[in-house]
Amino acid sequence: PPQPARLRRVLLKLSGEGLMGGQNYGLDLEVVQRLAQEIKEVHAAGLELCLVIGGGNIFRGLSQAANGMDRTSADYMGMLATVMNALAVQNFLEKIGVPTRVQSAIPMAAICEPYVRRRAIRHMEKGRVVIFAAGTGNPFFTTDTAAALRAVEMNCDALLKATQVDGVYDADPKTHPDAHRYDTLSFGDVLRQDLKVMDTSAIALARDNGIPILVFSLQQAGALAEIMRGTGRYTIIRE
Ligand code: UDP
Repeated sequence: PPQPARLRRVLLKLSGEGLMGGQNYGLDLEVVQRLAQEIKEVHAAGLELCLVIGGGNIFRGLSQAANGMDRTSADYMGMLATVMNALAVQNFLEKIGVPTRVQSAIPMAAICEPYVRRRAIRHMEKGRVVIFAAGTGNPFFTTDTAAALRAVEMNCDALLKATQVDGVYDADPKTHPDAHRYDTLSFGDVLRQDLKVMDTSAIALARDNGIPILVFSLQQAGALAEIMRGTGRYTIIRE
């Protein structure tokens, strides 16, 4: 696929499901460990990096609301789940010598820093990986939208969306073996065809602020480093 402009600073979005590995709930620490190692490699090569981590492996607001819970309460619980994941990823990064800071959109002074934009930028300039927790801090949003928002706020060169497959397809390749895979898409294509990449508000934010989205699979070892070298396999979504 075509290359994005030079990647100096990126935001990596990891879904909660991605951290679950083969399990159907919670964290697979082997997966977290492997991810930390991949992040370490690109960070050591000089990339400024921030992460947004989902919470779907622990709690998803929408599905609990469907079971009768108040949507706003359920969403706050979902945001708390992302904080747990953030602490796990922080722990495994620091174990292997990568300096990190967790910043939460919902202040939790005893656990992590509150989200402060200028401070987050400073951390990255000083070589720390910043992990954004608690999504946007608002119910009715997702961590995909939080990822697009933080990528814009941090002036990132790209938003890297890690998924279970190696790009965007016109149908789910797991159930449709003949699904077509795209190398390049425009934001307009994604919105018009309602392709299930990220939610609409995330796509719109990225489009309005000119941040390309690279959709790639974290199942493949070394995927991040390959993207940095310009040899990765991904779908790029841009203007
Ligand atoms: N959430 C929210 N506002 C946000 C981000 C997340 O209310 O800005 C809640 C929402 O309930 C969501 C849950 O946190 O279901 C977990 O996030 P998400 O589903 O985006 O995680 P992922 O699918 O990436 O694992």
